[in-house]
Amino acid sequence: MSQVSETALVLFSAGQDSATCLAWALQRFAHVETIGFDYGQRHRIELDQRPVLRDAIASLNADWRSRLGGDQLVDLTGFGALADTALTANRAFEFEASGLPNTFVPGRNLVFLSVAAAHAYRRGADVLVGGMCETDYSGYPDCRRATLDAMQDAIALGLDRPMRIETPLMRLTKAQTWGLARDLGGAALVDAILEHSHTCYAGDRAHRHAWGYGCGVCPACDLRAKGWQAFAEVP
Ligand code: ZN
Repeated sequence: MSQVSETALVLFSAGQDSATCLAWALQRFAHVETIGFDYGQRHRIELDQRPVLRDAIASLNADWRSRLGGDQLVDLTGFGALADTALTANRAFEFEASGLPNTFVPGRNLVFLSVAAAHAYRRGADVLVGGMCETDYSGYPDCRRATLDAMQDAIALGLDRPMRIETPLMRLTKAQTWGLARDLGGAALVDAILEHSHTCYAGDRAHRHAWGYGCGVCPACDLRAKGWQAFAEVP
C-alpha cells in the first residue's frame, strides 16, 4: 500500500517508539518532517538525542535521507509546569489513587496533537504519526485509539481539513515494536535505536545495557528491558 504522495509529520521524542514511527513514516511517505516538545521533562536528555537519532536513522537509507525534511522543537514548558507530574517534578514514580502512574501528564497527547496539527497545517502535511500504544503501556487514557479517533475528528473539524492520525504501534507489544524496526531497517536500524534512542525517565545515559541506556529501575527502563528481552528470545 503506497501513500507516498503524502507528507507526514512525526511526533518525535527520541524514544524507542517514536524512532520506530519515524522509520515507518520514511518507508511510506514522500516527505516526512518531525516535531518534538520541551514540556520541562526531567529526562531532558531526550531532547539532545533527537537530532542524533534522526540523523542516525536517515543515514541508514538513501531514500529515507531524501525524504526527511525539517524538525521543529516546540517550547511547552508552561504546559509542563501546569501538569506537575513525576515526569516534570522531582518526585518518586508511583501509582495514584486513580490507578494511573504519576508519570501521567494530563492531556499531554491532546496538547501535542493539537500543536502538531497546527504545524502540519502550515507545512502542508496530511498525516500525523505518533507512537501511542494501547498494548504494553501504563494505561494512559490519551494513548487509546478511541481518544485519537475523537482527536482526529476534532482536528479535521477545527482546521476544516482532513488530518489523519496514524498510530502504527497501537496494537504492538514492545517486543513487536523491535520486530517492526527490524522489518523496516534490519539490524542496523535496531542498533541505531538501541544506541541513540532515550526512554529512561531518570535521564540516565551513563549505564549501557543490552537494551540501551538507562537507570534500569524506572518504569520506562523496566518496560524497555522486558520488551527487549522478549524480542531477543525469539529466534
Ligand atoms: Zn530509567
